[in-house]
Amino acid sequence: MTAKWEEQAEHMVTEQIVARGVRNPRVLLAIRKTPRHLFVPEPYRDESWSDYPLPIGYGQTISQPFIVAYMTELLDLPPRARVLEIGTGSGYQAAVLAHLADEVHTIERIPELAEHARHVLRLLDLDHVHVHVGDGSQGLPEFAPYDGILVAAAAPKAPPALLEQLAPGGKLVLPVGDRGFQHLERWTRQPDGGFRRETKDAVAFVPLIGEDGWPAS
Ligand code: SAM
Repeated sequence: MTAKWEEQAEHMVTEQIVARGVRNPRVLLAIRKTPRHLFVPEPYRDESWSDYPLPIGYGQTISQPFIVAYMTELLDLPPRARVLEIGTGSGYQAAVLAHLADEVHTIERIPELAEHARHVLRLLDLDHVHVHVGDGSQGLPEFAPYDGILVAAAAPKAPPALLEQLAPGGKLVLPVGDRGFQHLERWTRQPDGGFRRETKDAVAFVPLIGEDGWPAS
């Protein structure tokens, strides 16, 4: 790598993220502070700051930087938030969330990915990120309610368990659609316990595999 990673992060933020309309200064700072290259497997490390997802093994990917920033902005976290991420993958999104929340829980169904993410997050002293193994389509009721839930894999519909685990005013951000093509949805828990749903941009995520996701195939 030629430039120091902070310079590459700055360039990525300006050219890929701000240029496409993400403006929340707390989110931009969180992205600038997160060493993405540490979450990317060695063969792809030179491409860490590029404008596309990269393979992380087991048929999975680390998401495109813009998508990480955009979904984080949509979560619109309050100060001192407790957050749940579904689909830890490399751990990069969880590390970004760690700069915006007091407590981050992230759940991954592939134990080897969870273990690797745990290792990198520990190296970065992000002790308030807790990596769990299991089917995230059921959420993580033992630590609910959450101010934000971010799903980094595509679901056929918003899983009811995730909606139930939102705090009042909390937001669920997830890709909803078929296995190849989805739209981002944002669900906000209303004071009366109901939900407001907004449909956002088109995206393409790997499938959420589980009880309220897709069958493994
Ligand atoms: N957020 C990740 C990152 O920053 O690297 C990228 C996530 S990758 C696009 C989607 C991840 O969701 C994969 O690692 C996959 O194994 C995981 N996944 C799929 N279904 C899941 C489920 N039901 N529960 C937990 N993780 C799941």
